[in-house]
Amino acid sequence: MRYAVLGTGVVGRTIAGKLVSLGHEVVIGTRDVEATLARTEPDAYGNPPIAQWLEGHAQIRLMPFADAAAFGEAVVNTTAGTGSLMALEAAGRDNLAGKVLLDVANPLDFSQGMPPSLSPVNTDSLGEQIQRAFPETKVVKTLNTMNARVMVDPSRVAGEHNVFVSGNDAEAKKLVTERLVEFGWPRESVIDLGDISSARGTEMLLPVWLRLWGTLGHADFNFHIAGARTGT
Ligand code: NAP
Repeated sequence: MRYAVLGTGVVGRTIAGKLVSLGHEVVIGTRDVEATLARTEPDAYGNPPIAQWLEGHAQIRLMPFADAAAFGEAVVNTTAGTGSLMALEAAGRDNLAGKVLLDVANPLDFSQGMPPSLSPVNTDSLGEQIQRAFPETKVVKTLNTMNARVMVDPSRVAGEHNVFVSGNDAEAKKLVTERLVEFGWPRESVIDLGDISSARGTEMLLPVWLRLWGTLGHADFNFHIAGARTGT
């Protein structure tokens, strides 16, 4: 299947690389290809500039958000939460219409320093904002409650643990669940939380996740819902 991964950070790269390894065709979207390729410094987490990363991933092309979204039969949002709506506007309503949008972004606001706050929160979520802004797109929030490496390699975390899906469209959630299973998630580990408003809950797990990261000193952990018996 053809995938457009919108976002050049570690999450976009990790998911794009995994999709290619599974035989999918993948492009990555960015605001300004030339500016993005001109970066020479590692990012805040020490990841190499994307130009260097792309050298080792010859099958993946970098293109503007709109061209990437037009290419993809399905789209993955891995942009910074504060920029996601702008990125998706740039991707283009028509290019997103009718497609499944796998939304991994969290609405983390770092403007007041660490720890970040969430905006929106409580009575709204980024997943819902995206679904409202793009009603013809089938938004499925998933994978946002764990580190990027765990997303595509759940065996990094020992024992049973879970991944959530939230979305209004049952078929879209089925497609996303098939990708999760391909990524290595046991089918019974996928918990369908219901419609896209349930993204409020998974986005609000982030303050807990961030504190656990600090306390544990590593990111290879995840949430396990004891007593869960429902897969999708
Ligand atoms: P990131 O640094 O949060 O986001 C990078 C991407 O966001 C870039 O592609 C950038 O575009 C785009 N972007 C930033 N501001 C923008 C704006 N104003 N308008 C349009 N696009 C904008 O990357 P990340 O660490 O890979 O995280 C991606 C998303 O996944 C985030 O929402 C994060 O909260 C979520 N998440 C991350 C992890 C993790 O392990 N890091 C885990 C779970 C969820 P350019 O390419 O043009 O610079």
